[in-house]
Amino acid sequence: MQQDTIQANKHYIAIIGGSVSGSEAATMLAQKGFKVVVFDQNELPYGKLEDGLPMWHASLRDRQEEAIDDKLDHANITYIPLVQIGKDINFNDLVKDWGFSAVILANGAWNDRQLPLNRIHDYLGTNLVYQNPFLYWFNHKHETNYKGKRYQIQNKSVVLGGGLASIDVIKIVMMELVMEGLKKHKNIDVDLFTLEKKGVREILELHQTTLEEIGVEPGYLVYRRAAEDMPLAQPSDDSPEKVAKARETSKNLLEKYEEKFMFHFVPQAVVEEEIIENGQFVGLKFRKMKIEGSKLIATDEFFDIQTTFVIGSIGSIPKKIEGLPYDGEKLKMNPENEFNVYGYENVFAIGNAITGKGNIMSSKKHGKEMTAKIISEHLDELEDIYTNEEEIFEKLNVYNKALKDLIKDELKSIENSILNHQVISENEEVYLLDKTAKLSEDRQFSNYRRWVAEHKPTRLEEMLGIKGH
Ligand SMILES: Cc1cc2nc3c(=O)[nH]c(=O)nc-3n(C[C@H](O)[C@H](O)[C@H](O)COP(=O)(O)OP(=O)(O)OC[C@H]3O[C@@H](n4cnc5c(N)ncnc54)[C@H](O)[C@@H]3O)c2cc1C
Repeated sequence: MQQDTIQANKHYIAIIGGSVSGSEAATMLAQKGFKVVVFDQNELPYGKLEDGLPMWHASLRDRQEEAIDDKLDHANITYIPLVQIGKDINFNDLVKDWGFSAVILANGAWNDRQLPLNRIHDYLGTNLVYQNPFLYWFNHKHETNYKGKRYQIQNKSVVLGGGLASIDVIKIVMMELVMEGLKKHKNIDVDLFTLEKKGVREILELHQTTLEEIGVEPGYLVYRRAAEDMPLAQPSDDSPEKVAKARETSKNLLEKYEEKFMFHFVPQAVVEEEIIENGQFVGLKFRKMKIEGSKLIATDEFFDIQTTFVIGSIGSIPKKIEGLPYDGEKLKMNPENEFNVYGYENVFAIGNAITGKGNIMSSKKHGKEMTAKIISEHLDELEDIYTNEEEIFEKLNVYNKALKDLIKDELKSIENSILNHQVISENEEVYLLDKTAKLSEDRQFSNYRRWVAEHKPTRLEEMLGIKGH
């Protein structure tokens, strides 16, 4: 636990979401002396690092999660897991009745932008899946206590999308099919981490086989624009040379992925309608697009792709919380102030919750910059009066049942060890009593490190005895 904080003022700030941007805000506020309560809907506060970032990025994930732990394990921060704001606690109650001086939304973007088709949604979960649940399944399906949905990827799957995440999705499609095909037709086990590193083509060559021989037909990645429009490389500035270079790099990268993972990239096409025969979903009809300057123009040319498995990967948007204002898909912000939620003086938003996109670095940066502004333009002005501390703690107690169960278990084991000792030495007794007292005192609200250690999922790379990268 960070020991550098003796300083504490009496303002309590609630943060909704403890991941990349939320933990950044929490540590900055805690270091300034604010008391911070971080609510997260999940057991762990790591958000998309656990449920979005594909698990082959194991080292990146672990590094980022450690960084979050270092930030949240602070004397001024109380972590409350398994509480979904909007479901377990009404948002407006939290803002108005709890006594927080400010509420910061760092809840990311957890809904998928819907495909512009109607009938395909009748096949959701079988022929259609969206990126967020798909990535969740992929990252967690090996866990013994996995209770989520299961998906069966099919040959000739179609991924509709165009960002970085859609490349991850089509890679997963090809890798899952190839692992299954190699096992079934050749009795060869290939682990996911090796396959991701070497790629499908190299692994097949190594085993002197082909996609055809192992019964795999390539998937398709369909994008409405051209390969160079894919945001795979970012220009370091807006100069025409840098932009052109980044576009070229994006195109080259995409070609490399296509070659390495053996999928088909289909540029300049938008989905027009689903093809359904005798009640069965059998494919998609696409309209070809042309690009003039930066404009995307519809043509009158069409083509079909026969497929029975479609993955929508056209973007993540914030999951709406009842009570908050939205402008279409996006959280409605105060037009004069980019971090202040419209209609509320003391509600702010940071990270993917506003941007809806970006990567770890940009979410961290956004969290840092916005929190600095929230502090200097709003919180620094607050007077040091506070009345509701007891009320907040009383309410937190109700929601912190999960952590309290931990204390109960530990107390019970101490009690048992006392009971099992017929005679215990004076030293032992002092030690046990001390430990008991310390437990109930220190852990009245949280023992962050222990909680996260006990709830880390089983890692596939550990099960396989290999290292991720
Ligand atoms: C498929 C995919 C691949 C990616 N690959 C990369 C990559 O390779 N490199 C990279 O840098 N970035 C990558 N990213 C992006 C990166 O994961 C995000 O930019 C980053 O995690 C966003 O941080 P955040 O804190 O804003 O949101 P999140 O990480 O989404 O965190 C939001 C937190 O809020 C919690 N929460 C949500 N709603 C509620 C609620 N109502 N009540 C309580 N808690 C709530 C969630 O449980 C979560 O912990 C990828 C993302 C995806 C989806």
